[in-house]
Amino acid sequence: MAKARGDIKIDIEKCKGCEICVDACPEDVIAMSNEVNQKGYLYAVKIEDGCTGCTSCALVCPDAVITVFREVKQKKEQIAKITNVTGNITVTVDK
Ligand code: SF4
Ligand code: SF4
Repeated sequence: MAKARGDIKIDIEKCKGCEICVDACPEDVIAMSNEVNQKGYLYAVKIEDGCTGCTSCALVCPDAVITVFREVKQKKEQIAKITNVTGNITVTVDK
């Protein structure tokens, strides 16, 4: 089964550089920056794709500065129902 797709946004100016999110990410997509924010802390950054939207990083962040996004699969909806067919028919559905 394909992995869920997610993304994160980190409010870097509020990050205190504790690195807990780095250890918590099972996909290893978070690392610490080489630069400091305005408070003087190294901050967490997303370094590559592969986020599944599992929310682990956001749950462990003591300063709640990580927002997680997860791709939601579209629900299947019925677009047509064919009834009372007595012979051959052709159905064309516009894409
Ligand atoms: S949501 Fe999960 S996979 Fe995505 S960055 Fe956070 S811990 Fe890693
Ligand atoms: S857990 Fe939160 S405060 Fe700590 S480094 Fe990650 S984003 Fe920054």
